[in-house]
Amino acid sequence: MSTERTLAILKPDCIRKNLIGEVIRRIQEAGFIVRAIKMVRLNLREAEGFYEVHSARPFFGELTTFMSSGPCVPIVLEKNNAVADFRTLIGATNPAEANEGTIRRAFADSMGENIVHGSDSPENGRIEANYFFPEHEIVNHTL
Ligand code: ADP
Ligand code: MG
Repeated sequence: MSTERTLAILKPDCIRKNLIGEVIRRIQEAGFIVRAIKMVRLNLREAEGFYEVHSARPFFGELTTFMSSGPCVPIVLEKNNAVADFRTLIGATNPAEANEGTIRRAFADSMGENIVHGSDSPENGRIEANYFFPEHEIVNHTL
């Protein structure tokens, strides 16, 4: 079986809206296995490091200020085709364009405050997971 990992982050708006449980429920219902999870408060420098690929974009300041504005919950998820399937589950970056039934469509307020992050490739999934979790904290348990 070819499983794949992706990094999800429940963003500060998700935590502020008391949606941690509801969003994780939807993620688990869709068949993702939680391999690592914690709550962190990123400082601005750490948020800038995570989103470095977007550093030239006009929204970089807004994005990193938002991501360091409150706690986040990074989660390493595993499933067949995890990267693509997770992006389908969360929906388009802009919640107004996200499909009915997606997490962003259901809960996000705007393009910037869109509830949840998902990696965009298996390689970035690994890199991003290791941004938050050393390999020994990603638990390879059997359910
Ligand atoms: P995604 O999170 O869907 O992969 P991107 O990688 O393009 O989207 O952008 C990263 C994050 O930056 C988005 O989730 C969103 O929070 C923010 N963002 C993207 N585009 C904009 C924008 N035009 N205005 C404000 N924030 C944005
Ligand atoms: Mg992205």
